[in-house]
Amino acid sequence: MIFRLLLLLTVSVAAQGAETERALAASIIDRYGANKLLEMNAFSFRERSRHLETGQSYYPGQQGAKLNQLQLDVDFAAQKKSLYTQGIRNQKPHFQHRIYRPNGSLSINHSSKRYRENNSKQFSDIDGSASRHIDLYWAKLISLHPNSVVGAYAGEYFGRPVSIATLDLKAYPKATIYVAQDGRILSLQVDESSSTHHFSNHQSVHGVLFARDFHISKSNTISSVASQRDLILGPLADAVFELPAGYKAANLSHQTQSNTLQMKALAKGVYHVGRDFDFSLFVDAGDHYYGVGGYKGIKERLEYLNQQLGLNKPLKYMVATHHHSDHLGAMAEAAKMGASFISSAQAQATVKAAVKQDLDDSRFLTVGTKLSLLDGRIQIVNFPNGHSAHHLLFVLPKDNILFSEDLYFATDAHGAPKGGPQLESLSSLFAQQQWDIKQFAAAHSDRVLSASDFQYSLDNMEDEPRCPPTWDFCQL
Ligand SMILES: [Zn+2]
Repeated sequence: MIFRLLLLLTVSVAAQGAETERALAASIIDRYGANKLLEMNAFSFRERSRHLETGQSYYPGQQGAKLNQLQLDVDFAAQKKSLYTQGIRNQKPHFQHRIYRPNGSLSINHSSKRYRENNSKQFSDIDGSASRHIDLYWAKLISLHPNSVVGAYAGEYFGRPVSIATLDLKAYPKATIYVAQDGRILSLQVDESSSTHHFSNHQSVHGVLFARDFHISKSNTISSVASQRDLILGPLADAVFELPAGYKAANLSHQTQSNTLQMKALAKGVYHVGRDFDFSLFVDAGDHYYGVGGYKGIKERLEYLNQQLGLNKPLKYMVATHHHSDHLGAMAEAAKMGASFISSAQAQATVKAAVKQDLDDSRFLTVGTKLSLLDGRIQIVNFPNGHSAHHLLFVLPKDNILFSEDLYFATDAHGAPKGGPQLESLSSLFAQQQWDIKQFAAAHSDRVLSASDFQYSLDNMEDEPRCPPTWDFCQL
């Protein structure tokens, strides 16, 4: 009897819950424009924002302020998306263009007029996290899938009463939404992300609602603030989702086509090991290795190397070329493997933090302008450039080898990249040190470039990347 009563209670609470959730979904749909929302099939969204970054700034220990601009065009009916982004970091602009279409997705490089097929991405994730910036985007998805609002309960958002619910859209990771009593979405937090997206200053645009103001917080600190947001309702021209005429397929190198580990011996006891975008160089120093190239996965790369050589030598020294968090991804692994660390004095605090354990100071070596190891076989030089204020090069002068991170590499299968201003300084450094570099290995490519590639890069400097003339949104 008690059991039956409990069961009845549970069923009625669940039914009540479902009713609350339906009412919540209905209030969102209603507030975002009701029929206007249902009829809206496409929009073009533009945003300009400042992203306050830790970990990728120019100076170790300082925060960077990156300017981001984006245009996201969405056609819900045709299931198509186009995303243009422009990021300016350290005064240097970077552009990206991605298109999702059910019949094939693309990443397009407008300066080289090349494209890559990008079929690992879906409608839901081709825009990275750009759609998380648009409350209207989620309201539209809720109007298409009202049953996606689940687990609603009453809570607070900055002292105001709100409904909190889970958004369970099958193609997306689960997210938590905070909804005002009048149906405005005030914040969205995707469960797998540490960022919370905050929407405010909601206004009506041709009958649908849209938050004019937006910021992102991470661990209770604001990480990004939008300074301008615009919305234009569709329909969108077909051309928005098409490749411009005359564009050719990119000529990709092995690393972007294969995801298996590989190893190349560049000289006796010198090995370039990795896959994809993550490579390290290991130098055999007798009973141990020196390693450089700090992307996560160094343990796997070292094990692969030992296995290929039939050896079992440990990593004794790990060189951190610069302080950027992605290139320090392997430091904690290296620490567990017992390695000591070599970095610039300025980057040492960041390296110590990345190691994630208390190590004796004797495990941290610093490079002033230059450090010579193994009787001069290894030379580590501080080479400040536009990417980082303290940037180490790993040079094996007698083997005529250079290993660098974020400096000189090619992702195409053939040909040399065009050069940047830092290559002139690099060439002068080689002359001054009397180094005759014949192999240019790098962290981000399986390709090892030659002296004639380097000469080509010096003779063919890239144009400063500019906002393509047809992109209205990034004309400054
Ligand atoms: Zn970097």
